Amino acid sequence: MSDDYEIDDELSCPKCQHSPLHYRDCTNFCDDGFFDESEDDPINFFPGESERRCDECKGTGVEWWCPNCGENLSGRLKECGIDRDEDAE
Ligand SMILES: [Zn+2]
Ligand SMILES: [Zn+2]
Repeated sequence: MSDDYEIDDELSCPKCQHSPLHYRDCTNFCDDGFFDESEDDPINFFPGESERRCDECKGTGVEWWCPNCGENLSGRLKECGIDRDEDAE
């Protein structure tokens, strides 16, 4: 895994106000922010029956963080009115 990430200078950290923020596709091997539990536990779950939210990206599929204070901002940018990843791809 590399350190590749993107930078968004339109956003600032809700905690320390630092800008820009960094983001990248979630590296936690989730599927758009969720895990299908049947892949971990095929005995108790059918495919698609139960999904577990990814802790890294908080179900968004994208990790956001503040490079200044280190705060994990994944899934919290909606608090700031940011919801731009809906139609990505
Ligand atoms: Zn994830
Ligand atoms: Zn910060």
